[in-house]
Amino acid sequence: MDLTLVTEGITTIAVPCQNPEDPFPPGTAPVFYNSRMALNRDTTVLVIRQIHPHSYLDAMAASGIRGCRVGVETGVPVTLNDRDPLAIDLITRNVHNLGINATITCRDANSLMSEERFGFVDLDPFGTPAPFIDAAIRSSGKYLGVTATDTAPLCGAHLKAGIRRYMARPLNTEYHTEVGLRILLGNVARHAAVYDKGITPLFCYAHEHFVRLHVQVTSSASAADKSIARLGYVHQCGTCPYRLEEQRFFPGVYTCPHCGSTLTPTGPLWTGSVHDPDILRGMIQDTETFVAGDPARLLRLLSVCRDEPDFSFSYDYHQLGKFYRLSPGPIDVLLNRLRDRGYQAGRVHYSGYGIKTDAPLEEIRSCMIQ
Ligand code: SAH
Repeated sequence: MDLTLVTEGITTIAVPCQNPEDPFPPGTAPVFYNSRMALNRDTTVLVIRQIHPHSYLDAMAASGIRGCRVGVETGVPVTLNDRDPLAIDLITRNVHNLGINATITCRDANSLMSEERFGFVDLDPFGTPAPFIDAAIRSSGKYLGVTATDTAPLCGAHLKAGIRRYMARPLNTEYHTEVGLRILLGNVARHAAVYDKGITPLFCYAHEHFVRLHVQVTSSASAADKSIARLGYVHQCGTCPYRLEEQRFFPGVYTCPHCGSTLTPTGPLWTGSVHDPDILRGMIQDTETFVAGDPARLLRLLSVCRDEPDFSFSYDYHQLGKFYRLSPGPIDVLLNRLRDRGYQAGRVHYSGYGIKTDAPLEEIRSCMIQ
């Protein structure tokens, strides 16, 4: 295997050489490494520096970049696992060169997680995490991290695959990214509830082609009940921009008050906040000394998440303009007008054109005209 050195954060490891001409260079090497996921790993390191778990499992480590970064940049004792012996050779070499406190195992992730407990269990597969969530919940002592890169099933572009994997009905709308994030969270909450465990989102977000969750797992039947009470639906009108959020176990049946169409439910999904404000504040403070690949992009993501209202849907500003045949002015002007009228209003972290507000559509429209 031809190797080359890469540095993320303050961690340097060897990874296999890739063919840069290929549309997806990570797919051309014997062991997986994707430099474009550096920001995902940055956020995990920042979360772990806030919560200090007693141990950490990188269940699908590949080159070991994620677990090695956690080991070097947080000091938490790490276990790196992969079922591929080639990956294990590379991980062993990287761990040795870094001189970190790490255990290395070559096992099927589900059998390892069924037998051993870790303070923080991290699922970062290539593709869907769905077949690993149950075992990860059982293995997690306190925290769980999940990456999903199967955004097409999660967000409704591949409807049937989404239903099979997440036992929820996605909907391909202008806020499908939000729906994908919340369907994954809702799925984790339901798996956790089976074992009398509840979840609390610490920092969950969607970025480019992935969804990333960091949640706290609390062992108690009442915590599980509390999580289940957070499940709900977004109901969307098929003919106009009307949408409705509902926190309820079974979806109700609703008619659009504007055009009379029956609304289509999407879910079950997690409603309410997807982050812990204290953790996020701590992470933002930590970026002052933290070494990130793209510090400006990281800080932008964190601060938009901090300021984003907790609603489970958003509106695309341009789509609203198109529907009402209005040419939209600057987005911040609209947000300020909505706030001046006493509504919550803010940007969303996954789109430059998304807005979240509790203002009714007529008010949004009138603020667009004003
Ligand atoms: N987390 C890595 C990327 C993982 S790529 C990073 O940060 O770069 C997916 C890896 O999961 C591959 O190395 C593959 O060998 C491993 N894998 C897939 N299924 C597995 C299983 N059931 N148990 C353990 N490892 C698995």
